[in-house]
Amino acid sequence: MADKLSLSWDLSDLYEGIDDPRIDQTLDECLARAKSFANRYRGSINREGLTADYLRTAIEEFESLAQDMTKPMAYASLVFSADTSKPEHGALLQKVQERQTEIALDLIFFELELMALPPEIIEPILDDPCMSRYRHFVRAARLFREHKLSEPEERILEQKANTGSRAFQRLFEESISSIQFHVVIDGEERVMTEPEVIALLRDPKRETRKAASSALTKGLQDHSRPLTFIFNTLVYDKAIDDRLRRYEYPEQARHIANELDAETVDTVIATCVEGFDVSARYYRLKKEILGYDKLFHYDRYAPIFESKKRYPFEEAKAIVLDSFDRFSPQIRQIAELFFQNSWIDAEPRTGKRGGAFCSYVTADLHPYVFMTYLERSDDVMTLAHELGHGVHAYLAREQGFLNMSSALPVAELASTFGQMLVFEALAKQADLEEKMALYAEKIEEVFATVQRQAAMYRFEQELHRARRERGELTTEDIGKIWQRHMQAMFADALELGDEHALWWMYVSHFVESPFYVYAYSFGELLVMALYRMYQEQGAKFVPQYIDLLKAGGSCSPQELLARVGIDIKNPEFWRGGIRVMEEIVDEFERLSKTWRARAR
Ligand SMILES: [Zn+2]
Repeated sequence: MADKLSLSWDLSDLYEGIDDPRIDQTLDECLARAKSFANRYRGSINREGLTADYLRTAIEEFESLAQDMTKPMAYASLVFSADTSKPEHGALLQKVQERQTEIALDLIFFELELMALPPEIIEPILDDPCMSRYRHFVRAARLFREHKLSEPEERILEQKANTGSRAFQRLFEESISSIQFHVVIDGEERVMTEPEVIALLRDPKRETRKAASSALTKGLQDHSRPLTFIFNTLVYDKAIDDRLRRYEYPEQARHIANELDAETVDTVIATCVEGFDVSARYYRLKKEILGYDKLFHYDRYAPIFESKKRYPFEEAKAIVLDSFDRFSPQIRQIAELFFQNSWIDAEPRTGKRGGAFCSYVTADLHPYVFMTYLERSDDVMTLAHELGHGVHAYLAREQGFLNMSSALPVAELASTFGQMLVFEALAKQADLEEKMALYAEKIEEVFATVQRQAAMYRFEQELHRARRERGELTTEDIGKIWQRHMQAMFADALELGDEHALWWMYVSHFVESPFYVYAYSFGELLVMALYRMYQEQGAKFVPQYIDLLKAGGSCSPQELLARVGIDIKNPEFWRGGIRVMEEIVDEFERLSKTWRARAR
């Protein structure tokens, strides 16, 4: 039966079903292997006389074990995502998680010993050609070496974090999710959660957006004292942590984790800030199209036109594959495997969790893609995005399990690039209003990733410094810093207004992972800049791009991009990304002129 395209995935490459006895078998075997691995290698890594051959053999064993123990976990979480309503799925996930932790406990020593090795022993070993495959893995394991405390100190900090920073993070989550927002629409009051109110900010009716925005502000205002206290406490906690761990400045720990230096990040952020003009220009156009005298914060995401066109899954498949094919037949072939072999779960079903993702699974199997396909243009873009990840993961398998996943700043490379290819294809076949809607969506998504995250990063930079220099900050102090940085990306094209001064309060990234946000700017601008290279070089660019994907996480972002001749410290490279953005806005401007001429 080759007629109907399957919308649900086939997980039998992992296991036959949740009762497959091989799940427990894998876990039992992995536990036994972890014990014998620990018996053999504990105390033998961090020692004088360690040789490259010995270390390589140990890492190979570790890799094979880590890969095999991932399979039950990958399977359980995929099954759970596809139907969270079945208690047996939750139970399987819980069981596998617990057993995986048990296995992992026996392996902790390995990375600790790698980290503890003095440079004079490990560096010559890493230079040995037989270690080339694992050089980056070892380097990555040792990234925080300089900032580790003694074991008793680490143990104390770890335990106290449960009643310290982690407790405040949880209090934040619980506070935000328990706030009831009272939205008044057409004289009727409705009580909503934070995600529901945020969704209303995209409503076509201005009154509704305004009501949602006031309700959000009011809800945050009512909780501003505890939320401000939580922010102050966590920012101060980080300052203490940074001092104890000998970090020189607030962003340093994040830069190390991202394998980027401050100079590079500053260059990228400065380029994003240069791009603030482009966003201001777009919002001026948007104001004219919407016919408003002035734009306010609740108009940022106002839809220009309601997109009514529907794309059946077959059509989305053809659009995605054709646009991948025009770029590279090899990439199309890989993407096609996902359809041929049912590696995609796209069917809308009750019980399915929200969102979309690509699970890399393991290097000896293949990735799976998860999403809910509802036939909107958005869903076509999501399919392209996740298949971009899928192709990336598929190609990176040749690096082996430990090296296949990319560092955060480059993790969205293929997904965003794939989306860009499909965006162009979708726009080409759309009528004028549809096309304008697609462009507006794309532009706003890019701004929300590049400019907005850069503005949020600058807010965090000032927030952490202000807390360190001035002590505890008031709600108004933080609001002022927030408004100044967030307003900058709109210049005079949109007025955020006083209500917006409280909106830092619900951004969980600030609370959970300080300075995380700039990786979004970095990743998106990188893709725009690479897209520029593609426009300039044409077919010559394609094999280089495929090499980037194949490298997976086998080296740092800087080394990775240097392989295709990119110097990530060079502002000109990043400006290429801003130019692509400008061109998209130029095209949007042309479209809106045509539209206005027709409307007349
Ligand atoms: Zn993604």
